[in-house]
Amino acid sequence: MRLSRYFLPVLKETPGEAQIVSHQLMLRAGLIRQTAAGIYAWLPLGLRVLKKIEGIVRAEQDRAGAVEVLMPTIQPADLWRQSGRYDAYGPEMLRITDRHDRDMLFSPTAEELFTTIFANGVRSYRDLPRILYQIQWKFRDEIRPRFGVMRGREFLMKDAYSFDVDLASARHSYNRMFIAYLRTFAAMGMHAIPMRADTGPIGGDLSHEFHIVAATGESGVFYHANWDRSRSTEVDADDAVALQAYVDGLNADYAATDEKRDPAAEAATGADLKAARGIEVGQIFYFGTKYSAAMGLSVQGADGQPIVPHMGSYGVGVSRLVGAIIEASHDKDGIVWPEAVAPFKVALINLRADDAACTAAADDLYAKLGAAGVEVLYDDRDERGGAKFATADLIGIPWQVVVGPKGVAAGTVEVKRRGAGLRKEMGVDAAVGRLA
Ligand code: ATP
Ligand code: MG
Repeated sequence: MRLSRYFLPVLKETPGEAQIVSHQLMLRAGLIRQTAAGIYAWLPLGLRVLKKIEGIVRAEQDRAGAVEVLMPTIQPADLWRQSGRYDAYGPEMLRITDRHDRDMLFSPTAEELFTTIFANGVRSYRDLPRILYQIQWKFRDEIRPRFGVMRGREFLMKDAYSFDVDLASARHSYNRMFIAYLRTFAAMGMHAIPMRADTGPIGGDLSHEFHIVAATGESGVFYHANWDRSRSTEVDADDAVALQAYVDGLNADYAATDEKRDPAAEAATGADLKAARGIEVGQIFYFGTKYSAAMGLSVQGADGQPIVPHMGSYGVGVSRLVGAIIEASHDKDGIVWPEAVAPFKVALINLRADDAACTAAADDLYAKLGAAGVEVLYDDRDERGGAKFATADLIGIPWQVVVGPKGVAAGTVEVKRRGAGLRKEMGVDAAVGRLA
């Protein structure tokens, strides 16, 4: 992409309405614009990051055996009356009336709809287990939307729902998702810590939240120091016994907990306990037959008797992750994207757009990188070098490749790694080879 033809409205000043660094940087780097409180337009650069995160979430859901669907955002109130949540949900639910005076709502989550659709499509215990998921916009009329996309009103969520014949099978689905979540956040270059959690309005009796540690996190968390070292997600997700032992082991060895819920945690875990702030980027729930019973989901068992399936639901805050990753990965000059979620891999900087030889060399390198499949944002604008470096630093592209007159004379370019301070002169072909 040539920057001269892109839409990248960067801001020089830090916007006054943004309190935390990720919100400030998302506005300054031209990722988003607010259109109403807690509602954002995604600009080209922000959309590319959102899509990368979405792609990683999708790949790990698919790998875990979940099946993608897409539900509508607008749902009939009657569905929610059936589970009792239309009244229970409160003012966070955006309620809408259509022209025929029918009560509708903008989905804040989707247990009722998934359960109903699933119920209409299955008959037998042989149709289970299944996990369905979607990546879809949600709306919650948060009383205090703030911190940009971290606590928005409209936000993108991955939500999955599992259906199993009994508790043992449901726990296996839960554990598969647990591991899928550790893999998902690791694939984004993030380390998310699972912690036991309350179930809140979703209900049920087993739940974990996943938190990215960052100074500006909204939750106070305690976690075992081992989590700073733990990176392993190598466990056979098809082996139910091994998986249960692995998840149990994680919880026992590395328990993390919310400070408000468990004041005894510090005493119990002793010196290895670390206090931190966490950003909740995902939460998983097992809630038994709460929704299957309410929505009339039942299948025929092997003995001909009806079975009410056990369910779980599994959320990832896809749009919140964009902010959370910036909170965890930035410096004084701007964003430092982990490569897996970066909007482009390479920022190609032509230091002298007014110099024919420089421009020819930069054009040539741009073509070569493109042919090698590298995602490049090519700063071909007629601007000073300093301004180009500042933009590349601000928007956080992992690699900068600089084409200048001296290098062109010597047949080299400079390759810099964002955030690490590493820089190296290389021949053009070596640079292409290194970045491809
Ligand atoms: P929170 O405690 O932060 O309000 P929640 O527990 O109500 O979140 P869940 O129902 O668990 O949220 O939703 C799944 C995920 O969706 C959360 O883990 C979070 O990452 C994301 N999420 C929830 N609310 C918002 C929001 N207002 N803006 C952005 N992301 C959100
Ligand atoms: Mg939650």
